[in-house]
Amino acid sequence: MAYEIRTYGDPVLKSTALEIQKIDDKLVRLTDEMFDIMYDAPGIGLAAPQIGVQKKLFVYDIGDGADVLINPEIVESSGEWVYEEGCLSIPGLYVEMIRPKEVLMRGINLAGEEVTVEADELLSRLFQHELDHLNGVLMFDRMTADQRTEALAEYRRLHEGEAKVKRPDEPRVIKLK
Ligand code: ZN
Repeated sequence: MAYEIRTYGDPVLKSTALEIQKIDDKLVRLTDEMFDIMYDAPGIGLAAPQIGVQKKLFVYDIGDGADVLINPEIVESSGEWVYEEGCLSIPGLYVEMIRPKEVLMRGINLAGEEVTVEADELLSRLFQHELDHLNGVLMFDRMTADQRTEALAEYRRLHEGEAKVKRPDEPRVIKLK
């Protein structure tokens, strides 16, 4: 089965993913495919619903090693950090958003062991963003009302008339207001 990145408007991105009960070869193969798709995009994180799979799992690599988190949850969060966030499912838009600077994330790794990861800044943002995908939440849902209006207009303008939404050459940055 060939997976592809689902983009804004696809109902699967609005759905809540299901807890993973069993880690088997099939799941391992799925994560392999997710890494291929993520690196190919290129991106630094990819949640299963982004390729149409309603399972609580995401893969990531911010440059210091590839990893997988299964059934993740945020245990603690603190601080505030502003970052221009992007999403492979909303190609071409970067949106300045405030979210907690640090999170403590708990999940399960591919070996089935419980892991906790302390994350700061970029990794923390990635965790929060990917966790949102598992709950059917997109960046548009996190924006201020003014940002959402601007971002939706920009997104439509960027992808007007495209049969298949792809990453535009010139991304747009939506500032915080
Ligand atoms: Zn995303």
